[in-house]
Amino acid sequence: MGLLSHRVEKTEIKPGDHIYTWRAVYTYSHHGIYVGGSKVVHFTRKKEHSSSADCPTFPDCGFKQPGSGVVLTCLDCFLGTGLPHCFEYGASPSVFLTKLRGGTCTTAVADQPELTIHRAMHLLRTGFGSYHVFQNNCEDFAIYCKTGLLTLDRAGPGKSGQASAFLNFPLAAALSSPLQMIMASPAGVAVAAAGVYCAGRYMTDVGVRRDVIKIEVEDLASNLGLDGEASVDEEPQ
Ligand SMILES: [Zn+2]
Repeated sequence: MGLLSHRVEKTEIKPGDHIYTWRAVYTYSHHGIYVGGSKVVHFTRKKEHSSSADCPTFPDCGFKQPGSGVVLTCLDCFLGTGLPHCFEYGASPSVFLTKLRGGTCTTAVADQPELTIHRAMHLLRTGFGSYHVFQNNCEDFAIYCKTGLLTLDRAGPGKSGQASAFLNFPLAAALSSPLQMIMASPAGVAVAAAGVYCAGRYMTDVGVRRDVIKIEVEDLASNLGLDGEASVDEEPQ
């Protein structure tokens, strides 16, 4: 397990794991919960993964409720051409601060795998609100399934690393490519910049923030208005 990556083999993935893969040549990562039986539950923009006809292996691959962004696909379709990584929970603050990229670990502690799977399967039935890259994205979905934690201030910076990375633009953008890191500039400059970037990210990590609540999946829709089609932007705060 390297500093920049939690690369795992497919055979190492266990039910209840939060896995992710890099998409579009390392510009963003896509996250999901492995629920066993070669299936992953993940949260997408509604247009994605709507066609199950492309899947050669599983007829139920791509299953979702009408209008919901929560989708069940097989592991191969989730990964596409990407490689599987495992998201790290219960990271110590020092480990967290050494990560050079957003969206690979959190200081929050994960619940039992059974509860994680229960939340994912429940949300497959009920949905997870509208996809929004800053406030309600695939990483938030997976972190919620693992921890039951949601931030109360849903209009503020998203708790996920990817959203934080966007908000830290352009410093985050400068560090967002592993390739650039490898080829980079004087190492001292890169390390100093990474320190600033990660310190900012630390403040928005779900394990550190104080405005985080733990909420059971059965209460999610009624408490946070996640049911229905309303955009997160339009909700009163
Ligand atoms: Zn498939």
